[in-house]
Amino acid sequence: MSSSGSSAFSEVNLKVAQAGEILGLKPGVISSLSSCEREVVISIPLRRGDDVEVLTGYRVQHSSARGPRKGGIRFHQDVDLDEVRALASLMTWKTALIDVPFGGAKGGVAVDPAKLSPIEKEEVIRRWTRSLVHVLGHHRDIPAPDMGTDAQSMAWLMDEFHRLEGFQPACVTGKPVQLFGAPGREEATGRGVARIAAETLKQNDVKVKGATVAIQGFGNVGRFAALVCQELGMKVIAVSDVSGGIHDKKGIDIESIFHVKTLAEVESDNRIGASEVLEIECDVLIPAALGGVINEKNVSQINATFIVEGANQPITHTADRELRTQGVIIVPDILANSGGVMGSYFEWTQNIQEFSWPVDKFRRELDTRMEKAFGNVNKVSRKFSVDLRTAAFIVSVERVAGAFELRGSLV
Ligand code: NAD
Repeated sequence: MSSSGSSAFSEVNLKVAQAGEILGLKPGVISSLSSCEREVVISIPLRRGDDVEVLTGYRVQHSSARGPRKGGIRFHQDVDLDEVRALASLMTWKTALIDVPFGGAKGGVAVDPAKLSPIEKEEVIRRWTRSLVHVLGHHRDIPAPDMGTDAQSMAWLMDEFHRLEGFQPACVTGKPVQLFGAPGREEATGRGVARIAAETLKQNDVKVKGATVAIQGFGNVGRFAALVCQELGMKVIAVSDVSGGIHDKKGIDIESIFHVKTLAEVESDNRIGASEVLEIECDVLIPAALGGVINEKNVSQINATFIVEGANQPITHTADRELRTQGVIIVPDILANSGGVMGSYFEWTQNIQEFSWPVDKFRRELDTRMEKAFGNVNKVSRKFSVDLRTAAFIVSVERVAGAFELRGSLV
């Protein structure tokens, strides 16, 4: 459930239906695009001391109309089937929007990753893989990291998959560079978010150099977004993670704090709360932690001109409408954070060809393709006189519906 009380999956489907109606799709096609092809729920018994705790795990495959399903695995205590459905569906729209040959999927385990020892985490990943191996594979469904999982988790997943199915490094992306990972993949989501932030400023005649940025989340996405925003000349004035945050109007030196485990380790006279960062006055706000963090409770406190969605679904449907009325320009998740799956696509193709790109080529390709997707969404937004989120859904729904119809609805 989103914090507005409506389901996260139904919020995505509202956008799908809206885009489908604008495109004149048949109601049956819209319903098909609003359902998931396959949903698997598993139990994961985990040895804890001399007892066993049973965790619940998920893999939801939303669509394979445009290619093998693709999507991350989230470890978080609030993971449930509705959230995984919503995230799986967002992957379908994201991969279509950036025009890579994938469908959409998502997985998760309802567990607080901070309460798992490394050995327990490895056991959960291996068990998740064993239980789901029949629906996974480099031409079926390819997992990747998400909140609470990382490159090491993907290495365990690949190893378990190899034991069961033989050598197939393209079965998972986001792996360590020493183990078939692509140099550049780890930073790709945050890099894409920062590049899109810069493009948004330029498009709206705001100078990139010196533009102020506030970021919620200092994990994979938030950290690299902060670093690349700084490299591009923006001034990051606030960052926060689950432990709280820091605010400095003069700008924070991101390089100096990049490697901290949590922001609690950073000495600062200007500490703020974890959610306070959302209310800081700034040009660009980047929510890069949880879903539903901008909602009816705090929407009137938002003080940003632009919001670039690093996280998936950080703004509820109602808050989105309210912000647009206030004139805030929102770059939607399926565009803003698509650098991750773009990078995964590069890793997957390189694994299949058993070939590796240098990181410069990876970055160049990523930047060029992200800018192309951004330009296309802007063009459609002007053509239909709609906001960027609606425009992004128009582009992707048209592509997925086209593939669905051409394949004879048999996917
Ligand atoms: P992560 O686990 O690496 O980091 C999450 C960060 O959020 C951490 O810094 C954590 O402390 C912080 N956080 C958690 N609860 C918080 C709270 N209540 N207030 C403030 N901060 C809080 O996760 P990630 O991979 O960076 O993913 C972040 C978001 O981006 C998720 O919504 C994810 O779905 C989305 N995303 C990730 C990728 C990717 O490639 N990793 C790709 C696309 C989208």
